[in-house]
Amino acid sequence: MIEVTLADGRRITVECLNCALVEGLIEPTGGVVYESPHFHVHQDVAYPVPGLVIVAARRHYKALDEMTEEESRDFISTVRLVRQAQREALGVEVVCYFYNEDTTHHFHLWMVPRYSWMYELGRSVQSLRPVLLHAREHMSDPKSVDEVRRATERLRTRLATGGGRVAG
Ligand SMILES: [Zn+2]
Repeated sequence: MIEVTLADGRRITVECLNCALVEGLIEPTGGVVYESPHFHVHQDVAYPVPGLVIVAARRHYKALDEMTEEESRDFISTVRLVRQAQREALGVEVVCYFYNEDTTHHFHLWMVPRYSWMYELGRSVQSLRPVLLHAREHMSDPKSVDEVRRATERLRTRLATGGGRVAG
């Protein structure tokens, strides 16, 4: 069992955070953003950055090479749809993707939007941790969390209305 601190300050204990989210045992901020046959897309539960979405596998596995062919096809098309929705619904021009097999949770890809305020905290991969800590320390107030909720709503609407359809 592992203990997780949520963006709203709640501390929860789960066996696998991603299983808990996929099974609906934890309600992510703003609700579910998108569901594909093999993946579950939601706002990150720990860091209140608008549009920071997690693409989590429905099945419990850790490594990319454990995906089936069908899952890997669904994965890339889901990531592209979400990326396009971030661009069209939130105006996100740059996204940092992060995926790590050294995790207590199961397979999930982070899609971290790059906002102008982040550049003060560094560039590229070095800035990732300072950015996330900054968000947790300075953007956990109700107004900022409302902004996160509005971003999830815009993404969900965009993905549900056929917006974000990727050509080909
Ligand atoms: Zn799991």
